[in-house]
Amino acid sequence: MNQNFIELGLEDVIVQAVDHLGFEKPSPVQEKCIPIVLSEETDLVALAQTGTGKTASFGLPLIQKIDNDNRKTQALVLAPTRELCIQIAADLNDFARFKKTNVVAVYGGASITDQAKKLKRGAQVIVATPGRLQDMINRRLVDLSHIDYLVLDEADEMLNMGFQDAIDEILETASEDRNTWLYSATMPKSVAKIASNYMNDPIEVTCGTKNQAASTVEHNYYLIDNRDRYKALRRIVDSCPSIYAIVFCRTRAETQTVSERLMADGYNTGGLHGDMSQVQRDGVMKQFKTKNISILVATDVASRGIDVDEITHVIHYQLPDDVEVYTHRSGRTGRAGKAGTSVALVGGRDKFKLVQIEKTINRRIERKMVPSGEEVMKSMVFQSMNNLINAQAHPNALKPFTEAIHELAEQMTVTEVLEKFIALNSSKILNFYKDAQDLNASGKGRDKSSNSERIFINIGEKDGFDWATLKDLLREKTSLTNEDFGGVDVKGAFSFFNVSKTKVEGVFAAFEGFSIGDRKVSLEVTKQTKSPDRRGGRDRRRGGGGNWSKDRRGSGSRDRKSSSRGRRERRR
Ligand code: AMP
Repeated sequence: MNQNFIELGLEDVIVQAVDHLGFEKPSPVQEKCIPIVLSEETDLVALAQTGTGKTASFGLPLIQKIDNDNRKTQALVLAPTRELCIQIAADLNDFARFKKTNVVAVYGGASITDQAKKLKRGAQVIVATPGRLQDMINRRLVDLSHIDYLVLDEADEMLNMGFQDAIDEILETASEDRNTWLYSATMPKSVAKIASNYMNDPIEVTCGTKNQAASTVEHNYYLIDNRDRYKALRRIVDSCPSIYAIVFCRTRAETQTVSERLMADGYNTGGLHGDMSQVQRDGVMKQFKTKNISILVATDVASRGIDVDEITHVIHYQLPDDVEVYTHRSGRTGRAGKAGTSVALVGGRDKFKLVQIEKTINRRIERKMVPSGEEVMKSMVFQSMNNLINAQAHPNALKPFTEAIHELAEQMTVTEVLEKFIALNSSKILNFYKDAQDLNASGKGRDKSSNSERIFINIGEKDGFDWATLKDLLREKTSLTNEDFGGVDVKGAFSFFNVSKTKVEGVFAAFEGFSIGDRKVSLEVTKQTKSPDRRGGRDRRRGGGGNWSKDRRGSGSRDRKSSSRGRRERRR
């Protein structure tokens, strides 16, 4: 059995379930929270982002603490959305795989009678959205007078969604003799108030830096003219053939329009917004989760609580007005330690928002160039080649055609066959992008004199590179500096970067005869030259880097207040 989890104080029956899930070692939030709540009966405030393993950090000890012989409701977990509620209930059932605790989910948009029946049959743990639970309390369908544990998950989201009254009522109704564990990605005053009004001397745990975006997310933006927004979206999608993305729009109408256009243009896509019925929304979510849909177009509200790992890109079709919304959107990718990219399509008038977002997430948002038609075509062709190389041949199925295949082989050379195959596979894209225009808006600070060349290099993500490690390799091989390379854009099997015209020859010479594995690394100047992005990045950061906005001061003052009230604080 997994010793790492046993050491946290978890019992065999729970660790068996952990083993079954394949967790190898506890995530930082689990390492911090599990021993605390297992070793003492205490209230807990944990600042933790989605995707950090926080569900298991409260779910594993919670299931352990349930007395299976007692049929009464012993624990309540509150979560902001129906989707998250269902997900948490499923996770708790996984943790209770060998203990068989009764977990019931209660949420809006489904039959209240059915849910009440399930509760009546016995729910040792209830996972609920605040609105539906409040309704059930008022109809006396639920009894919270004996609960020992109450978990508030994504407390900030619940308050953002207007559940303040429902939460107040639930917290007042529930047994006073309980422990409350509050989880939140951010700590605005409204959340701090819940802690001070309803919790008793909570232990505080901080996982990662407060309010900071997950570090596995790379943040990029494209500067475009508003009229080219949709075209730019297509280019980005087409240049990442294995994309699995959420495209965030600001309104329901925009969501509808973008998803319909993508559909008409042949993409596997679906829209998610408030004008749709619950059944329609469930259908779209199911298709997205099973990857029948690879691009989900959604409004912020409709997408709350989406809990899908492996999302490669979050695309802000429009930047939100609120920085918190940006952080929440971006947190949908880069989950469970996987790499993810947050991409913003930015019109000239929205550029100022980037500065505020950078300050808040304390990270640079790097400008990328909208891929040229040539770059998209290269992406497509390389993808076809990869598909060809990795395709599984079925010799038996093709046996009856052996003779015909041999005849064909005599008529054409291998090169001709490959060329035709690739053309066949990619003809739509190749035609579409043949005379594609440049979609990059000329932003302040962009060097229009084109003193640089855009270079293609035949190594990419498949060789284990991301933009940072590719830059490292470029520096290492050429002895140039970071500043010499710009616009690094790593794709599946290849990448692009900019380098000053005067240094191109040196870069080519440095890579002469260089191989990775048994593949020779080759470079090529692309026809379209792009200049390195300077965007006055350093200027914008001056005085801004690390300075927190008002919200942060809010959370800082809360910290002072809580320590002055004698709260214990643990930072591990
Ligand atoms: P959460 O933050 O609870 O939404 O978890 C994000 C994802 O990480 C979920 O898919 C979990 O199944 C997964 N996960 C949680 N804990 C671990 C762990 N210790 N090792 C590997 N994966 C984990």
